[in-house]
Amino acid sequence: MLIARTIAELRSHCATLRARFGSLALVPTMGALHAGHMALVRAAMTGEPVGREAVGREAVGREAGVVASIFVNPLQFGPTEDLARYPRDEAGDLAQLAAHGCHLVWLPDVATMYSPDDATTISVEGPALRWEGDARPGHFRGVATVCAKLFGQVRPDRAYFGEKDWQQVQVVTRMVQDLRLPLEIVGVPTVREPDGLALSSRNRFLTLAERSVAARLPAVLADAARRLAEGTAADPILDGARAALTRAGFVVDYVALVDGPTLAPLPATRPAARLIAAARIGSVRLIDNMPSYPSPAKSGRGIGSERRG
Ligand code: AMP
Repeated sequence: MLIARTIAELRSHCATLRARFGSLALVPTMGALHAGHMALVRAAMTGEPVGREAVGREAVGREAGVVASIFVNPLQFGPTEDLARYPRDEAGDLAQLAAHGCHLVWLPDVATMYSPDDATTISVEGPALRWEGDARPGHFRGVATVCAKLFGQVRPDRAYFGEKDWQQVQVVTRMVQDLRLPLEIVGVPTVREPDGLALSSRNRFLTLAERSVAARLPAVLADAARRLAEGTAADPILDGARAALTRAGFVVDYVALVDGPTLAPLPATRPAARLIAAARIGSVRLIDNMPSYPSPAKSGRGIGSERRG
């Protein structure tokens, strides 16, 4: 596995991989890697269509050169957020990436990505305006800016993002579309623990007691998604889900039924609807989401499409 720590090394290794594989796939991460990240690496490796987009789509048909980036991006953390305590484990990350056959790891430092006098950031509106955009002002500006820089450095043909961060995938997709960037964004279904909790680098901060409560988040969402799929008005079901999470011990930021690509709230489910939520337990903020399509004959897929880790 190749490693690049400077732009010169990155350019040279990307040229080698492009000559060997013909195409490049990028998996952007902030490190502290787990099985969720590895699902992105696997998808990038094969070019197989994944998730909902897989229906009726051709496989890319050949292995791509896979570049994983590890960069804890200061610009996407708010002043009161957990940048300083964000977990870092470069040796463990490199071992996992090598074991999964990743071809190149890009490890830029902050000075490679930002200068103190930078005058340019990327601000996405539309899908970035609500939910995480409200709860974390400046977050998506940080995400869009670092992704634009990574895309310019690596020049991948495809970049892989986890549906765990549903709104993020939509924001990056929209940026790529609006800026006419020459790459495809691929969303990969969420990898979960056996009890349903979505894998996240931040789960390690949960105490034992909080960890058992945390699994209530996907359980409550799955229950609400099932009931929404019957097509009744969303509001009472969403109120019920908020109340159930509060009773379980969460401080709820939001539970909403939205149009998947635009994140606009919906009064009832319809094709491409998504149930999204953010809630805090102790010092840890969890986000999760699930499809909530009209049932059953109108849509072949429900919440069973995600993978248990
Ligand atoms: P992060 O390192 O948290 O910025 O995540 C890097 C990428 O991995 C993002 O595209 C995330 O959405 C994705 N990811 C994180 N957790 C999971 C998971 N449990 N399942 C699938 N993808 C994930």
